[in-house]
Amino acid sequence: MFEGIQSVLVRLREPGRTPGAKKHRPGGVVRKRFHRSKVAILWAAHQVHHSSEHYNLTTALRQSLTQQLASWIFYMPMALAVPPSIFAVHIQLNLLYQYWIHTELISDLGPLEWIFNTPKHHRVHHGRNLYCIDKNYGGILIVWDRLFGTFAPEEEKVVYGLVYPIKTFEILYVQLHYYSYLWNVSKTYRTISHKLSTFIKGPSWKPGKSRLGDSKDNPKVTGKEVPYNPSWPLLLQGYVVVHFLLVLRSYHELFENKEMLSQLSVLGMTSYILLTLTALGFLMDQRPKAAVLEMLRCVLMVAMQRSGYLAPLLPSLAVPTEAFVSLSLLYWVLQSVSQLLSLRRKTN
Ligand SMILES: [Zn+2]
Ligand SMILES: [Zn+2]
Repeated sequence: MFEGIQSVLVRLREPGRTPGAKKHRPGGVVRKRFHRSKVAILWAAHQVHHSSEHYNLTTALRQSLTQQLASWIFYMPMALAVPPSIFAVHIQLNLLYQYWIHTELISDLGPLEWIFNTPKHHRVHHGRNLYCIDKNYGGILIVWDRLFGTFAPEEEKVVYGLVYPIKTFEILYVQLHYYSYLWNVSKTYRTISHKLSTFIKGPSWKPGKSRLGDSKDNPKVTGKEVPYNPSWPLLLQGYVVVHFLLVLRSYHELFENKEMLSQLSVLGMTSYILLTLTALGFLMDQRPKAAVLEMLRCVLMVAMQRSGYLAPLLPSLAVPTEAFVSLSLLYWVLQSVSQLLSLRRKTN
C-alpha cells in the first residue's frame, strides 16, 4: 500500500512521463530516488549499500550514514494521508523484510517471484552488469517494477558491487568517497550549470549527454571479475574478529546507556568506535600505516580499560580481555619499532 502511495507521489512529481518511456519511468518506491539513474548526490548516500562485491546477509547490513539525512523528505508527503503509527510499523517491516533477500542460497521461489521482491530479484538490483543497472527497485513488492518497466529477470551471472569498485575496507572512505568524487568532478567544469548538474543529474551524466548519462560508457562486465580480497594471515584475521567483537560490545554499551551519558562521553565513544573501525579497515587493506594507527588505538584501549570505559566481551572474561588488549598493544609497539628501523635502514 505504501509503496503504491509513494509511487503515485513520485509520478505526480514527474509529469510528462508517458507509459512507453521505459528508461525514465519511476520505479514506484522512494528508494528509487537514491539510485544511480536519478540524482548523483542521492546516489552518493545510497552507494554504500551497493559497494559490497559479495552478496550475503552482511551486505544487507552495509548501510549508509547519510541516507537518513535525505530520505525523510520523500516520506513526508505521506503525512497527509497516513497515520504515524501505521507508517512507523510499515517502515520497520519494510526494513526487516529486506534483510533476508540478500542471499545467493535461495535460487527461485516459484509463483512468489511474481509479486514479492525475492533474493533472485534483489541480486539483479545489486549487479553491475549492464542489464542490472537501475533495475528492481522494489522493497517488498516487485510488482511496482513490473508495472513501471524497471524489472529485469536474473539472467547471466550477476557481478556485484559498484561500477567502479572502491577496493578498500576503510569505513569513512566507503561512506563518504562519492561526495568528494562529485566535488572533484564538479571542479573540473567551468560553468555553474555544469557544476550543479554533476550533483543533481544522474551519476553517469557528462556535458553533452542526456540527464541520466549513458550507462554504456561504464566498464564492461565480463563475469571474470574478482572481488577485492587482500590476502592477510589467518592470525591477523582472528585478531580483527576479536577486536571487532570488542568494539561491537562498546557500541552496544553506548547504545544502551546513551541517555545517561554526557554529550562529551557520547562523542568520545563514537570517535573511538570510528577510529577502531578505521584501524581494522587499514589492517584488512594491509596498509603500511596500519601498525602505527593500531598501536595508538591500543594505547587508547588500555587507557579506556583502566578507566572503566571498555567493557569486556563477557563479565567473566574481564581478565582475559585486559590481557588480550595489553598483548595487542605490545605487539603493535614492536611492529611499529621494527617498521621504523627498516625505514631507517632503507634511508641510510
Ligand atoms: Zn539499492
Ligand atoms: Zn540490497
